[in-house]
Amino acid sequence: MSGLVAIRRADAPAVKELAVISGKGGTGKTSLTASFAALCQSAALADCDVDAADLHLVLAPRVVRREPFSGGNRARIRAGHCTACGKCEELCRFDAIYFDGAGNGVLERTFRVDPAVCEGCGVCAWFCAEGAIEFGPAVNGEWFISETRCGPMVHARLGVGGENSGKLVSTVRAGARRIAEERGLDLVLIDGSPGIGCPVIASITGASLVLAVTEPTLSGLHDLERVAQLTRHFGIPTMVCVNKWDLNAEVCERIEARAREMGLAPAGRVRYGSEITEAQIRGKAVVEYRRDGCASDIRAVWANIEAALEAPASGPLQGSAYANSRA
Ligand code: SF4
Ligand code: SF4
Repeated sequence: MSGLVAIRRADAPAVKELAVISGKGGTGKTSLTASFAALCQSAALADCDVDAADLHLVLAPRVVRREPFSGGNRARIRAGHCTACGKCEELCRFDAIYFDGAGNGVLERTFRVDPAVCEGCGVCAWFCAEGAIEFGPAVNGEWFISETRCGPMVHARLGVGGENSGKLVSTVRAGARRIAEERGLDLVLIDGSPGIGCPVIASITGASLVLAVTEPTLSGLHDLERVAQLTRHFGIPTMVCVNKWDLNAEVCERIEARAREMGLAPAGRVRYGSEITEAQIRGKAVVEYRRDGCASDIRAVWANIEAALEAPASGPLQGSAYANSRA
């Protein structure tokens, strides 16, 4: 392990952030992130894939602190104050209010808000003449600070139908960054959300480097192009790793050629291998499970990433990665 993530000196540069993302789920992004965490050993980890978090399955975090997350507001009708006038039902454009609420001693039934449908616009509470509608922050998730064998980790669980995962991603990422600063770690390693939506933007904005993981398929090529547009828009240096490259060597070549055209730097290839699944079943990162095969590929990819993070912006590899940057 080089000095990249060793204890930071007083004169050392600020904490760097590496975000591992992919254009869609299932590309092996989290498997790679877990292996990077195992190789790095002293980064603060941020599982920002909050809609389908699974880094914890490999790293077995021990939760030391948990906090509620509120991603928006919800309405709730207090049956005891409701006169069943029906105004709220009439006004709710999301059809979240039903006339099947509890009775209140005067009326057999009142109105009720379905919290899974309520969009938290607040219109019903504003217009209820009886003041019967409570309106305020809804707890729709949790976030955690944990310890793992590979370092501290911040992660989260979004409730079923929970919204505003971009805000939760920002919370997780900020928490990991704060821990890195407190403990003098040089790197925040982010398992980003897949796709190109709001949670992904929250995962990558201001990151030092993005690693885009893709597969050797035409949809993988298309997804990579979308990711490249996104990171270019935000001026973030970007590298590319083709996972399971040997499933289609020809498309892999096309992806790498297109990546070069788009100014993305190659981080390397990882072959297809059953050891990835075998390691997951044992709750290990593949580099903890084997040294050869996929594990050796991942070590090589990690070495390239470290070099890119450590190199000055004008260096050869970093220069290539920075070609995607508008900065
Ligand atoms: S507007 Fe208020 S009083 Fe009327 S039905 Fe809705 S909650 Fe009840
Ligand atoms: S807050 Fe908005 S969406 Fe929710 S129940 Fe009231 S009117 Fe409907």
